[in-house]
Amino acid sequence: MPGYLGNKFGMIVHHLAVMVPKCKIYDIKKEDSVYFVPDIIDQARKEGFVPCKYCVDKLPKLGMKVLKINGTML
Ligand SMILES: [Zn+2]
Repeated sequence: MPGYLGNKFGMIVHHLAVMVPKCKIYDIKKEDSVYFVPDIIDQARKEGFVPCKYCVDKLPKLGMKVLKINGTML
């Protein structure tokens, strides 16, 4: 299951395990959705996406790769 979901409309990246209603993830059009390989924030940043302030920004800055929420590796 993918974690990070990028929205090409606005170039914002969300994380599905910590998303909130404000993310409006269901408003993201299919053609604007981007998944990342590897599924990490560094990859999203490399592709020019800005972390969502409602979800991704709430993730701890350190130890992100080992933290698990709902069983999903962040
Ligand atoms: Zn978000």
